Amino acid sequence: MQYDVIIIGAGPGGIYSAYELKKLNKDIKIAVFESGHPLEKRKCPIDGDKIKTCIGCKSCSIMSGFGGAGAFSDGKYNITNDFGGTLYEFIGKRQALELMRYVDEINLSHGGAGTKLYSTAGTRFKKICIQNKLNLLDASVRHLGTDINYVVLQNLYAELRDQIDFYFDTPVHTIRVLEDGYQVEAENGLFSCKKCVVSVGRSGSKWIEKVCHELGIGTHSNRVDIGVRVELPAVVFSHLTDELYESKIVYRTEKFEDDVRTFCMNPNGAVVNENTNGIVTVNGHSYEDKSKHTDNTNFALLVSKHFSEPFKDSNGYGESIARLSNMLGGGVIVQRFGDLIRGRRSTVKRVEEGTVTPTLAATPGDLSLVLPKRILDGIIEMIYALDRIAPGTANDDTLLYGVEVKFYNMEVDVNEHLETRYPGLYVIGDGSGITHSLSHASASGVYVARDMLRAAQ
Ligand SMILES: Cc1cc2nc3c(=O)[nH]c(=O)nc-3n(C[C@H](O)[C@H](O)[C@H](O)COP(=O)(O)OP(=O)(O)OC[C@H]3O[C@@H](n4cnc5c(N)ncnc54)[C@H](O)[C@@H]3O)c2cc1C
Repeated sequence: MQYDVIIIGAGPGGIYSAYELKKLNKDIKIAVFESGHPLEKRKCPIDGDKIKTCIGCKSCSIMSGFGGAGAFSDGKYNITNDFGGTLYEFIGKRQALELMRYVDEINLSHGGAGTKLYSTAGTRFKKICIQNKLNLLDASVRHLGTDINYVVLQNLYAELRDQIDFYFDTPVHTIRVLEDGYQVEAENGLFSCKKCVVSVGRSGSKWIEKVCHELGIGTHSNRVDIGVRVELPAVVFSHLTDELYESKIVYRTEKFEDDVRTFCMNPNGAVVNENTNGIVTVNGHSYEDKSKHTDNTNFALLVSKHFSEPFKDSNGYGESIARLSNMLGGGVIVQRFGDLIRGRRSTVKRVEEGTVTPTLAATPGDLSLVLPKRILDGIIEMIYALDRIAPGTANDDTLLYGVEVKFYNMEVDVNEHLETRYPGLYVIGDGSGITHSLSHASASGVYVARDMLRAAQ
């Protein structure tokens, strides 16, 4: 089969790239290969009843399938260059923001209309944070919510499915360079194309590393972020979340001068498992629909670890720490803040007696046996710092789930077109190591689509 463009991966990067290509040129022949299931077949078997923890499905429905890792996410599209990736380094800050706004318009016209856009611009919390040694980052955030995010994906698929060949449950194994394009060896056979967009996200991190190695495309080691997910009564943070929804706050620790930051805040949300390459870590989400709200808010506290020579395997380091929690707890561990401070493990009884009802069935345990001291000390310091702007954060019953790890892909060598050393072979989204968010990954998809068609003119 011969295509004009083959897109590998149907996450936001791949979807918005396909959308823009079709919008600009109806005649272009596109195939999308996706190792996961179609959207309606994506179902994590954990029901909290019969199946309580991750059973390691062949294709993880949380991470893979139409919609990518973001399909059941909170659908927070952060429109900012301050975090979420470094796309702006390749395409410029203004263009990056314009593309993120354009993606926002697509989302609104495909089911997202009526959802709220929050902004930190001009907020009084900026001053309160600075007075307490905390730095509130600038951003606008569109909160679609898990439910509306799903509707937007359904609508996008409905629009694209008759115009594009989608191959689900079809991982691509190899990419070969031909004289006039590329050959893609997928689970169901060989396909060729003139141009190829690789958008395989974090779940494709090992695969993209292999492809780069085979094709002699350079990569650089990246970072890993390690920490915990905090869960507390929603009222503790409601003054912030009502106005800002998500506040990205950075704290510089006194002890080690490490940066600890809040990440992925989910007001009235739920804590969930995440399975990356068989390792179970923790994440969170929340629904726009008020009937699905919980009484809790959750967010991550993360410390970035950048390694210098000779160590190169930052993801391996994060995996080893996550494996420790899986070894001790059979999955994710939960601990009361009060137990952590007193140097004792949490037990089922202690968690049950607490005032915060966990939204994830995790094993009560001791995170100090899992997290390196430097990281744990930073997290504890930040919890006390946050307690000054949101009193109650450092309560004994605040729950900490571990570990939360943000794996970053190796950064792939691409030029300002997001193109590798092979003309027409693009690597975008989280799989490129350049983006780490829905908005940046989606923007990179639109960018290559436009760039590709401009080059063909
Ligand atoms: C639970 C959760 C909540 C999140 N919440 C947010 C949020 O609120 N806001 C935010 O900005 N970000 C959030 N994120 C991160 C966000 O989902 C990602 O940044 C985004 O999805 C990256 O898009 P992508 O297209 O680059 O990759 P992905 O979304 O990871 O998509 C890549 C796709 O490629 C497929 N693939 C991989 N290898 C192959 C192969 N060899 N052949 C074929 N297909 C392959 C995968 O199955 C996957 O579907 C969340 C992530 C998770 C897991």
